[in-house]
Amino acid sequence: MSTRAQQALSGEHSSWPRTIPFSRPDISEEEIAAVVNTLRSGWLSIGPETQAFEAEFAGLVSARHAIGVSSATAGLHLGLNALGVGAGDEVLVPTFTFASTGATVVHAGAYPRLVDCDPEHLNIDLSDAARKCTRCTKVVVPVHFAGHPCPMDEVQGMAAERELAIVEDAAHALPAKYHGRSIGSLSPITVFSFYATKNITTGEGGMVTTDDAVLAERVRGRRLHGMTREAWRRYSGGPWRYDISYPGFKYNMTDIAAALGRVQLKRLPVLQARREALVGRYQSALADLEEIELPVSDPGIQHAWHLYVVRLQLERLRISRDEVIRCLNDAGIGTSVHFVPLHQHSYYRDVLGYRDEQFPHATAAAERIISLPLYSRMEPADVDYVAETLRAILRYNRR
Ligand SMILES: *Cc1c(COP(=O)(O)O)cnc(C)c1O
Repeated sequence: MSTRAQQALSGEHSSWPRTIPFSRPDISEEEIAAVVNTLRSGWLSIGPETQAFEAEFAGLVSARHAIGVSSATAGLHLGLNALGVGAGDEVLVPTFTFASTGATVVHAGAYPRLVDCDPEHLNIDLSDAARKCTRCTKVVVPVHFAGHPCPMDEVQGMAAERELAIVEDAAHALPAKYHGRSIGSLSPITVFSFYATKNITTGEGGMVTTDDAVLAERVRGRRLHGMTREAWRRYSGGPWRYDISYPGFKYNMTDIAAALGRVQLKRLPVLQARREALVGRYQSALADLEEIELPVSDPGIQHAWHLYVVRLQLERLRISRDEVIRCLNDAGIGTSVHFVPLHQHSYYRDVLGYRDEQFPHATAAAERIISLPLYSRMEPADVDYVAETLRAILRYNRR
């Protein structure tokens, strides 16, 4: 442990040696049994488990169609592809997001037009999005940062006015609601992630939802080579002949992943209640700390609380965000930063020419944010330890 962290912790809590990872999947014996059953079933690739998972997922988010894919990244690529996005098109992408949101636009052959964030929730700034629309803009990709829904009425208003399609990056937003409606039921395409750190996991995996039968058919076909008949139907006694109507991708979910996902989905209400309780505990434990700004939740929305992101008031501190993270790490606490905005990565800076000045809100937020540990298996005492450690670090390093 560094001297600074030691000094900061030399109060009443120095007797708390804990190791708290940033994230940890919540896998019970039930998930393990479901995966083992699938392994024993003789069918590992896409098949009946995926189909059942899709039906259950569609029911949960009130979408007509849900299509299981190998990742949210694959889902975003498929969604853009199904909408016909290609060379010469532009797609509005918030800079405050993960690599996939931008990369999949490039994969589709289009140009990622980066957009600043709103300073409150770090979601897409719609006035900046409107400014950046051109004749070539075809799609807007709102990302529900940390699980707080974007203002979808306004997103839909802007999209309607400018004839844009909407592809929601809902990797953080299961189960989130906007004005009583589930994320996953609002836009032509919504994409969820089941990566290991997400609110539910299939190891790797994702889901695309839509109410549009034509888009659903395209995403469904193109996730598996663009073939007209999926293998599990051909191999189980159906006709052997198939046609390739489109040079599709290999982006399907597997039944091993789906078996895991079905149990996770069933447990989601319990997992989510724990997340909410832990967030409540953080919020009250940190409420009086003037050196940080806590996340806020708007009325009329249900927050998925995928991440718990605090912002440092650097004006009040003698140390940087990176040093605060080092002190937390020294005390056994794993953290993360969501995100280094896309425009600060070398591809976007050096190849596409984006600069900090074009994104004042995202640039200001980027050096202040820390994602604290939040996962359903976390104990309330872990939250207390993180909160007290953070308090000690910040108090000791006050300006
Ligand atoms: C995790 C994440 C993704 C990618 O999810 P994968 O399932 O790992 O491909 C996309 N967008 C955001 C905002 C994410 O956090």
